[in-house]
Amino acid sequence: MRLKIVQAGEEVLRRQAGALSRDEILAEETQRLIEYMTDTMRDAPGVGLAAPQVGIPLRLAVIEDRPEYHSKLSQEQLTERQRRPVPFHVIINPTIVSAKGASIEFFEACLSISGYSAIVPRSRTVTVEFLNERAELVRVEASGWYARILQHEIDHLSGILYTDRMYARTFSTLENLDRLWKDLPVSAVKEKLNTP
Ligand code: ZN
Repeated sequence: MRLKIVQAGEEVLRRQAGALSRDEILAEETQRLIEYMTDTMRDAPGVGLAAPQVGIPLRLAVIEDRPEYHSKLSQEQLTERQRRPVPFHVIINPTIVSAKGASIEFFEACLSISGYSAIVPRSRTVTVEFLNERAELVRVEASGWYARILQHEIDHLSGILYTDRMYARTFSTLENLDRLWKDLPVSAVKEKLNTP
């Protein structure tokens, strides 16, 4: 079942979301929420969806970067983004244990800021601990695009949107991103948009 994705301006996107207990994770209600969020993410389509985006202030998100989402990107673009398929998984009560590496800048978008995109700096590598949908502790070290997805989704659980971190002068409609900027290096886009 598809859920309604709330848009920027809704209070739930700005709240600190609440942690789930082990029993709450295993409860039928949460398992159903995960199933519905997965349907909603795939239908959008998106590579991640956090519970606050469907109006629920819980520290839970689903992530999946499918190979078919990469068809509009060239091999060169995939390589520079370090973008590789990420199998479906659920992150619950995640914490970023460490963030390393230079800040990497690319255009990023959000299903709750529909129709727009901006250049957002993110850490290249993050180590994240979370519980999965069986309430088992998982630790991942992620780099490249997967690290970006994790940082974006974990931000949602603290009421942070990419617009809080973006280079504001690069904020563009998706139409203009596609028409004007998508094939240019980020450094050239920043220069043309007079971004310090
Ligand atoms: Zn988002």
